[in-house]
Amino acid sequence: MLLLTPGPLTTAASTRAALTDDWGSRDPRFVALVARVLGGIRALVGDDGTWSCVPMQGSGTFAVEAMLTSLTPRDAKILVVDNGAYGARMAAMCRYSARAHTVLRFAQDTPADPAAVDAALAADPAATHVAMVYSETTSGLVNPLDAVADVVAARGRRLLVDAMSAFGALPLGSARFDAIAASANKCLEGVPGLAFVVARRDVLAASEGNAGSLALDLYDQWRRLEADGQFRFTPPTHVLAALDEALRLHAAEGGTAGRGERYGRNRDLLLAGMQRLGFRLFLAPEHQGPIIATFHQPRHEAFDFAAFYDALCERGFAIYPGKLTDAPTFRVGVIGQVHPADVERFVDAVAAVLTEQGVS
Ligand SMILES: *Cc1c(COP(=O)(O)O)cnc(C)c1O
Repeated sequence: MLLLTPGPLTTAASTRAALTDDWGSRDPRFVALVARVLGGIRALVGDDGTWSCVPMQGSGTFAVEAMLTSLTPRDAKILVVDNGAYGARMAAMCRYSARAHTVLRFAQDTPADPAAVDAALAADPAATHVAMVYSETTSGLVNPLDAVADVVAARGRRLLVDAMSAFGALPLGSARFDAIAASANKCLEGVPGLAFVVARRDVLAASEGNAGSLALDLYDQWRRLEADGQFRFTPPTHVLAALDEALRLHAAEGGTAGRGERYGRNRDLLLAGMQRLGFRLFLAPEHQGPIIATFHQPRHEAFDFAAFYDALCERGFAIYPGKLTDAPTFRVGVIGQVHPADVERFVDAVAAVLTEQGVS
């Protein structure tokens, strides 16, 4: 089954093969593997000594919540940019952790407007931090990271980024942020079970006592790893071994640029093919990122999403239901071990299924 989803993804055979070894979590060879993985991730942001990569067991949400609640003081006020489910999730994290916050909302098809962020910060001197999603996986749109980072920095505020579905495939620009959260199982093409935050070392060093949760305390996790290279609690050993191999493949593909280029070609073929079949893209093409695309469901009486989904599964393709509040859609991811020829086969399969189901 080819997973055309936003993660977990179709992984390389050698990445899956790396799961078959057992590792002792305190074994020096495993400690060396952890150091190599964290160094490899950190290097994707910058290797100038500014940054540290702090892993966090769990799915991506664990790292986002650890970042938001560990790297902001308890009396912080966070401006949350929301143009999809993942922005809204960060606002929920603020509620759970009792962080003062305001939400700057844009429609789900509209990228964050740097001028609006600037105006919101000008109007709210109490706001200390901005939290934004880079690639909004809800729709597939890409927010203008660099432009927003510039206005946040110009106002002397701090930026925290959920780069979950961007990290490893989209450029990080000038990296004018305090920290960025992502996970093993998106564009790095590892398996699920580990997430991480790449943060400025000085920001981490000043973050003691912020977290309201022991398990999600990034500062505590960082200190232990700095001290002896070990996790505080059980690490997902197999997941880390697979990520080690996945990072090797990422570098071999040309790093972030090489991977982003393949995803971009996948996206272009998908959009052209689906348009040829009459599907309408949810986003304006200029906002469409190279990670996942959202299509409107056909308005045809014979179209039934569950039957469409099942027929595609029978042909070896798993697509993804829509997550939008305001329109019946479905999503097709183009990340993971998905190559242009796979996208062409997928478009052919969609055409065959529509014909079979009498959807013109
Ligand atoms: C995948 C994703 C997350 C994390 O979701 P999990 O289900 O916890 O892995 C967070 N933000 C974005 C933008 C994502 O795409």
